[in-house]
Parts: sequence; C-alpha cells; structure tokens
Amino acid sequence: MLMSPVEFFRNLPEKVCPECGQQIEEQAESYFMECDHCLSKKGE
Ligand SMILES: [Zn+2]
Repeated sequence: MLMSPVEFFRNLPEKVCPECGQQIEEQAESYFMECDHCLSKKGE
C-alpha cells in the first residue's frame, strides 16, 4: 500500500534541538542539530 506524498511528509519526524527542545526550521545548507540559539551559545 502506497502512502501519498502528503502522508509521507506528515510522518517525517520534526527536527528538534536536543539542547532545548525547540523545533528547528529546516535549512537547506545546515547540518547542525542544534537551533540557532544553542549554536550561538556554543560559539565556534
Ligand atoms: Zn536549542
């Protein structure tokens, strides 16, 4: 049984920051797991 594309994307887990639990907006060129806030706290 095939899922419709809509159902497929709906079933994808939301990307959530492991540091603070905030939902992360997908960024095409970002490989970071943390949200912007936690990344800025860590520095470089
Ligand atoms: Zn965070």
